[in-house]
Amino acid sequence: MKVHAAVAYEGQTQLSIEHLDLGDPGPDDILVRIAGCGLCHTDVKALAGRMGVPKPIVLGHEGAGVVERVGERVAGIKPGDHVVLTYDSCGVCHACAAENPAYCARTTALNFSDGRFGEPGTFTKNSELVHGHFFGQSSFADFAMAKPRNAVVVRKDAPLEIAGVLGCSVQTGAGAVTNALQPPAGSSIAIFGVGPVGLSAVLGAVLRGCAQIIAVDVLPQRLELARKLGATHAVLAGPDMNPASAIRRNFPGGVNYSLDTTGRPDAAQHAIAALAPKGSFGFLTIPAGGLQINMSTVFLQGLSVRGIVQGDSVPHSFIPQLLDFFLAGRLPFDRFLTRYNLSQINQAIADQAEGKVAKPVFVMS
Ligand SMILES: [Zn+2]
Ligand SMILES: [Zn+2]
Repeated sequence: MKVHAAVAYEGQTQLSIEHLDLGDPGPDDILVRIAGCGLCHTDVKALAGRMGVPKPIVLGHEGAGVVERVGERVAGIKPGDHVVLTYDSCGVCHACAAENPAYCARTTALNFSDGRFGEPGTFTKNSELVHGHFFGQSSFADFAMAKPRNAVVVRKDAPLEIAGVLGCSVQTGAGAVTNALQPPAGSSIAIFGVGPVGLSAVLGAVLRGCAQIIAVDVLPQRLELARKLGATHAVLAGPDMNPASAIRRNFPGGVNYSLDTTGRPDAAQHAIAALAPKGSFGFLTIPAGGLQINMSTVFLQGLSVRGIVQGDSVPHSFIPQLLDFFLAGRLPFDRFLTRYNLSQINQAIADQAEGKVAKPVFVMS
């Protein structure tokens, strides 16, 4: 079948909107007509050649849409179902068997290396193969191929055009707080970086009933948005500004929890330095250049340090829960989205990089 997709080529900084052919679903595949797909920072990193993905490739990993066809071995998902796509996992390794699919032993193979290259359901252009299966989906296209492991059936009153963002950034940020750190009601949390993931963490902290939610960012407009979504304090970071000291001016004893969403080693250092004794620090991406942690401080202050992948989410239960919260008005993630057409993808990436929008979502025509 013919599809319309955004293709990333080796050495190119812009995506190219093209017509591709997509093969028929294999026996375990789910063909999804994409209604919308969010733009996540990992797409931008992959486009820039920082994820090691093979090219040319169709990126996009926050798709949602309607199931069009399923392979003969697919059970429990049928044409017409509404699905949110998420990261893929194998379902059989020790991590998956223990309900920790975000830590699947085959994460890289299933999400970043197009291990299915050449199998049924692959993109081609003029009979040349184009890589796909990015995060098990490649949904910067009007159709995508997924598997039962990474297609989550959701309620039909959910807004499909925007629901795909739950499959990565929103579950990563909200889940880091609600699944991983689990701050009790009344506690304090500092969230470093309030882009889409950090804003989702703010929403998660509101859900948990945190009494003090401190947003830290270099962009005033993001801090403003964080406040609207429930942050109680805002700290503007910058070259001459020490956010840990700024936090301690309001909280001399430190905060109970801190979270780094930025991947900046200095932000992570400040997030640890802002903690009260027995505080917990979580980080959601690998700090560029590594992270030096003073283990004496960790020991003497009784701190916990946790890497958190995809918010520890078990997508088949967590994404429907997040949608229930959204539809009940308790997780208004729609407030930080800006809609674009897929043809505007390069403009959307530029707008986000310039801080004009928090998070683009592409609505397929
Ligand atoms: Zn696994
Ligand atoms: Zn993502």
